[in-house]
Amino acid sequence: MRTPELKGGALLPLAESFYTLQGEGYNTGKAAFFIRLGGCDVGCSWCDAKETWNPSLYPPTPVETIIEQAVMYKAKSIVITGGEPLTYPLDILCTTLKNKGMEIFLETSGSHPLSGTYDWICLSPKKKKPPIGDIHKKASELKVIIEEAQDFLWAEENRNLVSDSCFLYMQPEWSKREYITPIIVEYIKNNPEWRISLQTHKYMKIP
Ligand code: SF4
Repeated sequence: MRTPELKGGALLPLAESFYTLQGEGYNTGKAAFFIRLGGCDVGCSWCDAKETWNPSLYPPTPVETIIEQAVMYKAKSIVITGGEPLTYPLDILCTTLKNKGMEIFLETSGSHPLSGTYDWICLSPKKKKPPIGDIHKKASELKVIIEEAQDFLWAEENRNLVSDSCFLYMQPEWSKREYITPIIVEYIKNNPEWRISLQTHKYMKIP
């Protein structure tokens, strides 16, 4: 959605921003400022951010305004998430954050072209709109959401595309966690190159 009114990414549809702890994946437990952009055309049935899908609900916001709060907190880590943040060109946002000395983590499905530069890329591929380009090779972490046993095949297909240094995570789909978590545990016991990722922020009831 590289629309002229976003001025090449100088404006972005900000859904919300907040300071909390990263709840899932490799950086679990780290304090970070989250920037959530509106807009996603992937359409996961179990999405826990459906309110962000329609970008027109979120007015284009200047990058300088978006980062005003980000730099006020002690932690210097930023998580850029969505929605699908790569819907937009993120070079200006990343450059502006880097110039302020911030460490930038991206959460993406990889279904749009990669833009911006990051200290950490968490690739969470979705069957409905698979990753494009060479983002698998650039992923620091592969995080596959598992809602049923056949998702293990999807996880392995993606695992075959990432670099040797990429960390591998399987994460129970939240609404199916009681059913699927024990199955994931058994899978990882037999395939120990994988780790489990739990949505600890939901257990802690923090954003
Ligand atoms: S890619 Fe992410 S934001 Fe988009 S529908 Fe799926 S879970 Fe929701």
